[in-house]
Amino acid sequence: MQVTRFPATYFDGKSPRRHEVTVVVASAGLRLIHADDRTALWPYEELKQTQGNYTGEELRFEHGLEAVVVTDRGILEAMHELAPQSDRRVKPAIGGWRMLRAALGAVVGLVVGGWGMYTYGLPALSSGVAAHVPVDWEVHMGDQALAQLVPMDQRCEDVDRVAALQTVVATLVSGLPAKSPYVYRVTITKSDEFNAFALPGGRLIVNQGLVKKLGSADELAGILAHEIQHVERRHTTKAICEEMSTKVLIAGLLGNHDAFGSAVNAARALGELGHSRQAEAEADHLGMNLMVASNLDPQAMVKAYRHLKEHDVRVPTFLSTHPDTDGRIASLTAMAREAHASPHPLALAMSWRRFQQGCTP
Ligand SMILES: [Zn+2]
Repeated sequence: MQVTRFPATYFDGKSPRRHEVTVVVASAGLRLIHADDRTALWPYEELKQTQGNYTGEELRFEHGLEAVVVTDRGILEAMHELAPQSDRRVKPAIGGWRMLRAALGAVVGLVVGGWGMYTYGLPALSSGVAAHVPVDWEVHMGDQALAQLVPMDQRCEDVDRVAALQTVVATLVSGLPAKSPYVYRVTITKSDEFNAFALPGGRLIVNQGLVKKLGSADELAGILAHEIQHVERRHTTKAICEEMSTKVLIAGLLGNHDAFGSAVNAARALGELGHSRQAEAEADHLGMNLMVASNLDPQAMVKAYRHLKEHDVRVPTFLSTHPDTDGRIASLTAMAREAHASPHPLALAMSWRRFQQGCTP
């Protein structure tokens, strides 16, 4: 039987006080039952879902100034069953880059919320400023985002596999100029989603779903070479700086991140944060250089990109957020052909097959 009643937390929009309520999914709207038995109907056409767009996040429905927060995502199913017209009011969970953006926004939101300084109209900083953002900030930002994006129970904690992946990263880092200010750390997630990404400060995240589709450790190195260059070139940090105001960054410097209140607003403000085509081309180009400098096979990077393009049934996240795939593969192929490479195959402490098979959810 369809569950239609869900415990929820209600906010009246005038005070920060929380009230426990029951939300009943009805055909015309969500009915709120307050502790004193008072009820209110929020018609679906007046609802707005403002939170719950990424996996594990609570759902928030707003009705004018009022809001309810529901933990059980089963409410979406109930709404779909009982009131299909409500589908237009809810947004499905998102993953990959959009999730990353939302989480980064939320992180900045923590800072902002803590300071109560979320103010529009302040001059947004140019990307030039990103070059002066202390590495400490980036690390802090990256760690906060990682904690939100990949909860502990979604991480692959297999020591051998993490060590194997760290070997891949160490090989790539050996090809970087000695002055790199970042310490790279990798996290393997149990996610089946086809993705890998980098967070500011040197946090690299690799989904098991990506590992499964690649043919070798060298191919994985090709993907990570690209991601490492996003970190080295501070692409994500720049994108955040361009979106955020001076005060937000000052608050970030001071490291206050108590309040979750403004996280959603900040996530919205961050909306379109992502890498520009230019940043992607740069990460490709420098990533290929890094493969060569690390004595890895430049062709493996090309293979990885082709592999991703050809074998994934769904649109692969890695490439779909990295536009103009064919053009990029073509320029990588040209670079690989011209590279003066003396590659050595990557040797992991375990076979690639074994590495691929572990840590499924
Ligand atoms: Zn990229």
